[in-house]
Amino acid sequence: MLIINNKILPIGRNYMAMNLFGIIFTKGRLSPQLKNHEFIHTLQQLEMLFLFFYMWYVTEWIIKSIRYKSFFKGYQNISFEREAYGNANKLNYRKHRKPFNWIHYI
Ligand SMILES: [Zn+2]
Repeated sequence: MLIINNKILPIGRNYMAMNLFGIIFTKGRLSPQLKNHEFIHTLQQLEMLFLFFYMWYVTEWIIKSIRYKSFFKGYQNISFEREAYGNANKLNYRKHRKPFNWIHYI
C-alpha cells in the first residue's frame, strides 16, 4: 500500500486520508485503524474494477446526502464507508473479508 503524505489531498478539514486507485493521500500520520480503513477501500476498489467503485460511491453519496439532508451524513452512510468505518478496528478484517461484503452495508 503506497501512502503519500502531502499538503493538498484530501481537500477539506473533515478528511484525514483519501484513497485514489489504491494510493493513499494523507496530510498526516495514519493510525493503524485508519490504514486499515483505507486498505478496506482498496479491496472494494479492486473488486469493483475501480471505475464502478467511483460511480457507485458518488451515486450513493448523492442519494444519501438527499436522504439525510447533509453531505457529511451522506458520506458517512455510503455503504463502502460503513463497511470501512465499521471494521477499521478489526485489524485482521481484510484477511477474512468476503468479496463484495460492502453490499451488506447498503
Ligand atoms: Zn473511507
